[in-house]
Amino acid sequence: MATITLDTLRKEFDNGRIVAVDDLSVAVEDGEFITVVGPSGCGKSTTLRMVSGLESPTSGRILVGDEDVTDQHARTRDVAMVFQNYALYPHKTVMENMAFGLRMSTDLSKAERRERVRETAQMMGIEELLDDKPDELSGGQKQRVALGRAIVREPDVFLFDEPLSNLDAKLRTTMRTEIQRLQNDLGITSLYVTHDQEEAMTMGDRIVILKDGKLQQVGRPKDVYENP
Ligand code: ADP
Ligand code: ADP
Repeated sequence: MATITLDTLRKEFDNGRIVAVDDLSVAVEDGEFITVVGPSGCGKSTTLRMVSGLESPTSGRILVGDEDVTDQHARTRDVAMVFQNYALYPHKTVMENMAFGLRMSTDLSKAERRERVRETAQMMGIEELLDDKPDELSGGQKQRVALGRAIVREPDVFLFDEPLSNLDAKLRTTMRTEIQRLQNDLGITSLYVTHDQEEAMTMGDRIVILKDGKLQQVGRPKDVYENP
């Protein structure tokens, strides 16, 4: 069961002069899609980076299911992250980009890895891009590949850091629908960071609102916005 538990999670920078995340506690249910919203600098990215293992908390705990992953290396966590800037390897093809994560996290043979990538690419409608390099792709195609690279690992947990911010309005709507479809089909427990309230509202099963690193509100979109 892939619940995510943030237990009094805290992150300080500059010897405590900056408190980026201030004793945050949130329990994400299995299969739940939680959006995290709040103004720039409120601690959204830092929170995600701690769950992914890219940043170590100053104090507090992170659990995935029953397992305490607080001190686990990023590579050994069953967590996939999708970034705003796609973070694709520029010199690798789409196939290689998508297969790379699999190489670290599983013991499949090369042929099996390529087969898994093909299946995922088919599901995402990007099979015809598998031999292309990232700079041959449009923004929307890159983000689809980044999503595919995350999905192919079949992670327990998905983390999204403003994945649609670099796309134009039309593509944003398309990708939003795509992410929601994937979420419905796969039911992966997800934390989705955005500064876009409307996006948070339409996409989230529940919304976490952060302010100055603190939990300001958590609830279903309707309840949160009826009682702001
Ligand atoms: P958000 O994603 O909501 O914009 P961040 O998590 O990026 O917020 O940042 C929260 C706060 O922590 C901000 O004040 C930011 O300047 C600070 N911060 C983030 N990363 C670092 C860092 N590596 N060193 C110092 N301060 C940081
Ligand atoms: P985001 O809001 O998406 O995190 P930023 O531009 O705020 O984007 O941060 C980009 C990178 O810079 C992150 O790795 C973050 O940890 C780091 N960072 C953010 N604020 C500071 C800061 N005040 N001092 C040092 N590093 C920072």
